[in-house]
Amino acid sequence: MYSKIVILHFPPEVAQKALVCQLIKKFDLMFNILSARISNKKEGFMVLEISSANRSGFNKGVNFLKDQGVKISNPEHQIFKDEEICTHCGACTAVCPTEALYIKRPEMEVLFNKEKCSVCELCILTCPTRAMGLFSKATEEVV
Ligand code: SF4
Ligand code: SF4
Repeated sequence: MYSKIVILHFPPEVAQKALVCQLIKKFDLMFNILSARISNKKEGFMVLEISSANRSGFNKGVNFLKDQGVKISNPEHQIFKDEEICTHCGACTAVCPTEALYIKRPEMEVLFNKEKCSVCELCILTCPTRAMGLFSKATEEVV
């Protein structure tokens, strides 16, 4: 079994297509969506774990996505905080084990210090507005 986590960036013109589902039908791949978001510009971002019986099947599926206009890269996981969505409720600060998320007083503003983040993802599970998410930087081409 070959398994790899990749980041998919869907330009607006392909963001509405169910391309990922076709990985199952066309290439017999399995996938697990770790994170998915659509930006204000209608671009889609998805962190996906793709599993295949072998590397060849994985490459075929990834090349199919590329042919459809999806940009694919390897992940370097990071946590992001969407400041437009955050309501500063403070729930994430109660679960953050490293104090990367903390309350600035007296403003009572929830701030995020990326340097202290261990990417445990507890804040993602806790945030009621889904302001916290997994972000990934493109590091290299996948295939
Ligand atoms: S739990 Fe979510 S909405 Fe609440 S302060 Fe944290 S990031 Fe903001
Ligand atoms: S991923 Fe974990 S360490 Fe990082 S901000 Fe969220 S709760 Fe804190």
